[in-house]
Amino acid sequence: MTDAAQDTEYDVVVIGAGPVGENVADRTRAAGLSTAVVESELVGGECSYWACMPSKALLRPVVARADARKVPGLDGAVRGPLDADAVLAYRDDEAAHWKDDGQVAWLEGIGADVHRGRGRLSGVRQVTVTGPDGPDGTEKRLTARHAVAVCTGSRAVVPPLPGADGVRPWTSREATSAHQVPGRLVVVGGGVVGVEMATAWQGLGAQVTMLVRGDRLLPKMEPFAGELVGEALAGAGARVLTGVSASSVRREGENGPVTVELDDGRSLEADEILFATGRAPRTDDLGLDTVGLEPGSWLSVDDSCRVEGSDWLYAVGDVNHRALLTHQGKYQARVAGAAIAARATGTPPPATGRWEAHAATADHAAVPQVVFTDPEAASVGLTLAEAEEAGHRVRAVDYDLASVAGSGLYVKGYRGHARMVVDLDREVLLGVTFVGPGVGELLHSATVAVVGEVPLDRLWHAVPAYPTISEVWLRLLETFRG
Ligand SMILES: Cc1cc2nc3c(=O)[nH]c(=O)nc-3n(C[C@H](O)[C@H](O)[C@H](O)COP(=O)(O)OP(=O)(O)OC[C@H]3O[C@@H](n4cnc5c(N)ncnc54)[C@H](O)[C@@H]3O)c2cc1C
Repeated sequence: MTDAAQDTEYDVVVIGAGPVGENVADRTRAAGLSTAVVESELVGGECSYWACMPSKALLRPVVARADARKVPGLDGAVRGPLDADAVLAYRDDEAAHWKDDGQVAWLEGIGADVHRGRGRLSGVRQVTVTGPDGPDGTEKRLTARHAVAVCTGSRAVVPPLPGADGVRPWTSREATSAHQVPGRLVVVGGGVVGVEMATAWQGLGAQVTMLVRGDRLLPKMEPFAGELVGEALAGAGARVLTGVSASSVRREGENGPVTVELDDGRSLEADEILFATGRAPRTDDLGLDTVGLEPGSWLSVDDSCRVEGSDWLYAVGDVNHRALLTHQGKYQARVAGAAIAARATGTPPPATGRWEAHAATADHAAVPQVVFTDPEAASVGLTLAEAEEAGHRVRAVDYDLASVAGSGLYVKGYRGHARMVVDLDREVLLGVTFVGPGVGELLHSATVAVVGEVPLDRLWHAVPAYPTISEVWLRLLETFRG
């Protein structure tokens, strides 16, 4: 600590101003607690600038064009290529041109103090903030009367592949912020980021090759999700190679092509290579050792998002590894913010039982996710395999989404599938998956059914409007009843 160190005391100190940190601050400020928010890069976090927003801006025109090409009368008007420059400019707008003034103003508007710089824990309820505020070396010491919330998120992992360091690979950051469409792009990894970015860049004119170690895309979803998305990617001209891994990579010169050697002896050449191979917690330079925790680890928390074994340290959002999704992190932030306030003031006393105000119960039972590909894949709760593994007595009920009147009207030649996983002992839903054009907006109905544990007999009275894709609900229930 330098002489220039300043000490300030707050009720709550939040480290990391991504969507999750912002929402913790929103809740603690709403409860009247003074709150500091520390941010080392851009207020708004990964989601706003290198993840959700730019990726969805790249995908929206690609998916809208794919849908429009299946609408009679419209198909002829959208036969040509996308205007890639216009799409990239739209993406730049949606990423706020990587400027955070609007989100800083929002945080200040709720009465939080924003501290620019790297935050590190430096003891119990202590956070030290290093630059860039003030002259070099200036540090601030923030003391939290009640709680410190670590909301530092996650970063992309590049596998330790021979040559990987030397090829300037894309991670999710470059894949969402690139300013030129590469001629040829190799995407390593078949999870959500891999399929979304393969869809976007193939649609924008790149020749995409996906390298998938396992036997299918989207391995965490029901198997039909990866099958349908893979078929559509192939239909769009991408190559999807399953059961292969890259064994080494090298780039010719500064800006020459990248050669990827595969473990089956083949090799590929590309202009860029994207590693979409998982995430690591941003906890390696966070001072965790000063409070007895392992640097670089995911932070394990209870349902109020309080770090196990601590009465003042919270870890919220990606960094606790419960569900790496913005909406779920923001849900945790609402829960954690309310729990911090309840523990600080004692009114109301914390309610941490299942589905109570200060417990992020949905993290275990009902995490919704939409993969914004063509077709969309949307799921909530457990897959059939997960439900069986958890020991439930279940039945999967399947329906071909193409057989619903609303889907035929949505696009001609609709291809899609729906599955609900029924808990046979309680006759409620444990999980639902829809795959098909336009199903993302259907997902919340499933989330309500799963979270509400709505008995199937009552769901029968929730009548879907005709002719919408939602009529699949009726068909699934009829199939279940036989
Ligand atoms: C390509 C891609 C697309 C995605 N699309 C979606 C989507 O469509 N929908 C969805 O729900 N989720 C999506 N996600 C996931 C989503 O981006 C994350 O779940 C979300 O950003 C997590 O929010 P967070 O606030 O926990 O962390 P982050 O958004 O990562 O924010 C953490 C913040 O903490 C700051 N920070 C880190 N360390 C420090 C420190 N020591 N001191 C000060 N500040 C620090 C960082 O600079 C950052 O601003 C996507 C992810 C990727 C990679």
